[in-house]
Amino acid sequence: MEIIKYKLNDVVELKKPHPCGSKQFKILRVGSEMRIVCMGCGRDMVIDRIKLEKATKKVYSEFSQQGAPHHEP
Ligand SMILES: [Zn+2]
Repeated sequence: MEIIKYKLNDVVELKKPHPCGSKQFKILRVGSEMRIVCMGCGRDMVIDRIKLEKATKKVYSEFSQQGAPHHEP
């Protein structure tokens, strides 16, 4: 089974959308319990890492997000 590596501030896309319609959640805390916040409505929740791994469709790294701040000279 593939192990998903989550990092703080990564955005995950879940298989099931939140009731607000958004499928993207940002990682606020990493551990055996993960804390994520919905990008659509800003609601945060705690979910077991195992459950999150099963529910995750994609992980977007902090640095590959569209619109992420980047610093250029
Ligand atoms: Zn939501």
